[in-house]
Amino acid sequence: MDAIRERTLIGAAGLDLEPARRPTREEAMEAVRTLIAWSGDDPRREGVIDTPKRVVDAYAEWFEGYAADPAKELSRTFEDVQGYDDIVMLREIEVESHCEHHMAPFLGKAYVAYMPTNRVVGISKIARVVEIFARRLQTQETMTQQITDAICDSLKPAGVAVLIDAAHQCMTTRGVHHRHVTTITTQFRGVFKTDPTLRQRFLDFVNRG
Ligand SMILES: [Zn+2]
Repeated sequence: MDAIRERTLIGAAGLDLEPARRPTREEAMEAVRTLIAWSGDDPRREGVIDTPKRVVDAYAEWFEGYAADPAKELSRTFEDVQGYDDIVMLREIEVESHCEHHMAPFLGKAYVAYMPTNRVVGISKIARVVEIFARRLQTQETMTQQITDAICDSLKPAGVAVLIDAAHQCMTTRGVHHRHVTTITTQFRGVFKTDPTLRQRFLDFVNRG
């Protein structure tokens, strides 16, 4: 876990930073009490007395992606594809992530396709890779790229296409309050970048239904 956390920090910052010390559970709960007080409430009030415990537990779930390795998920591939040589695509993978700017949820769907060469991967693994990157502090742009890179690096396919369509609660519930705006991000690699017909097929599959 620490190795992954360290890599993420260095990679994200582009700097050779010391890995951040992981606070204790008690320190994390104290931080939640501080935020409750900052909100204007009293952290000793009965209704919120156990809130720090619940928030810390929720964080463990929302951010479990730091402790998981997408490359490992994609490492078990099947070479016997029986001559299958077309798009493999997953539609409407749930995206439940948190923006790194406000730590507010952003929710939506991911569409992921790849064009296999001689290796395929269990389709649930693709959904798991989306989940691993989603369960970190993210920007939608970065996440789209990370999913694409992970599939390219592990499967060495002829091409990868990723589209994410999500609504950011930092935009719908605060600030500009645009309730119905969703954000679409895409990445196309390999044949999905060079072949417009193939890219259009992917987009048609996205829009189906
Ligand atoms: Zn935000």
